[in-house]
Amino acid sequence: MAKAIRIYNTLSRTIEPFTPLHENRVGMYVCGPTVYNYLHLGNCRTFSSFDIVFRYLIYAGYQVRYVRNITDAGHLEGDRDEGDDKFAKRAKLEKLEPMEIVQKYTQYFHDVMQAFNCLPPSIEPTATGHIIEQIEMTKLLLEKGWAYEVDGTIYFDVEKYSKENSYGILSNRNLNDLLDGTRELSGQDEKQGRLDFALWIKAKPEHLMQWPSPWGNGFPGWHIECSAMSQKYLGNEFDIHGGGMDLIATHHTNEIAQNCACNGVSPARVWMHTNMLTVNGVRMSKSAGNGFLPNELFSGSHPLLEKGYSPMSVRFFMLQSHYRSTLDFSNEALQAAEKGYARLMNAIKLIDNLKTEGDNASYIQSLTDKCEAAMNEDFNTPIAISHLFEGVTFINNVNDGREKISASDKIAIKKLFHDFVFDILGLKMESEQGNDKLDGLMQILLAQRADAKARKDFAASDLLRDQLLALGITIKDGKEGATYNL
Ligand SMILES: [Zn+2]
Repeated sequence: MAKAIRIYNTLSRTIEPFTPLHENRVGMYVCGPTVYNYLHLGNCRTFSSFDIVFRYLIYAGYQVRYVRNITDAGHLEGDRDEGDDKFAKRAKLEKLEPMEIVQKYTQYFHDVMQAFNCLPPSIEPTATGHIIEQIEMTKLLLEKGWAYEVDGTIYFDVEKYSKENSYGILSNRNLNDLLDGTRELSGQDEKQGRLDFALWIKAKPEHLMQWPSPWGNGFPGWHIECSAMSQKYLGNEFDIHGGGMDLIATHHTNEIAQNCACNGVSPARVWMHTNMLTVNGVRMSKSAGNGFLPNELFSGSHPLLEKGYSPMSVRFFMLQSHYRSTLDFSNEALQAAEKGYARLMNAIKLIDNLKTEGDNASYIQSLTDKCEAAMNEDFNTPIAISHLFEGVTFINNVNDGREKISASDKIAIKKLFHDFVFDILGLKMESEQGNDKLDGLMQILLAQRADAKARKDFAASDLLRDQLLALGITIKDGKEGATYNL
């Protein structure tokens, strides 16, 4: 049953039956974060969504190799290789080495992933750890005539590629449409075509992150890293490639072009993309001032938030929307999710103590079938959750003496909730307090943080918050002072 999985493929724009290339094994690549700044919530949604895919494929009996990269070099501000290097710019701003920036924000990323209870991927390769592979791939593209060099920078020739291949296959757009969406080349541009993109970029002498190459010192372009690393760990062809939908038009389009030009085959069979976030119906973005960070959501410190929400309430909230739908944040929706999550956890706590009698053994099996059917249909978490809540009502009714549960159904419902709530949806029990000593210690730390805030020493209060987050402890700021979640 669980193996009858169907997935929406961006490439075909339809829901297709999922059949892996190799029986019982799945290779999945997801574009990871660019670690030059605090991870934003859109990324959290994307990685939580693919965490669900990873978990469900494992539940379905597949052996999954899940590769999610860390972009720690070579990402310029513009997706088409324009503007400053994101790491160099941030390093200058924070007066740190670029690799200190990488270390700091990789750590933050891992802390947030842990707070959201996302499983680590099987392999987490970095761009800086695969410079040789990226140079080799660039060399091959030059040799095959798909790329050209201009003064130490190597560009991919999109126009030439388009003569034999469909460059806009993923976004379903033809070359003229794509050309219309890009700016005209100016006299200062080195590249020959407007859609051409850099595989290798010549570094200025003062650029800190640079490596020797056959074309002089430089650094890789952003798109080549994912082509090189997916090929290295998953082969020329693999099953699933994923990321946020903002990657379709350029990054993933260029990845397909690079891999096809090198190997003659498209890298992934299924392309999956997560939708964007909105806040009170408005697209979440830095410029709109509504782009709160995970920490701000946990602590409630953003002006748009009435209070803080625990990581598991937020995870539950995110799972209540399908990954291909927009996810709208509002105080009402978050508070409803917080209550829903608590109701789910309370029901699970009741299961062990339910009194058994009678025999209605078919009910839980049908509920399990419905949960599996929902997940089989393109990982539909909101529908699976609605079926789980039928189970919650049933548990509460049995507990109140309004319904009966047989011994075998009690075992089955415990397994259903364990499998779906903990293993597949990746939710876990959160406790508001630890033991007395720990609670005492936390009150001291919270008082110190309140003190630092009163002194306007926000660096100290943020540091304390981040260090606690690294331990999996989140702070919630509320009207009556701060509280914590373990
Ligand atoms: Zn990528």
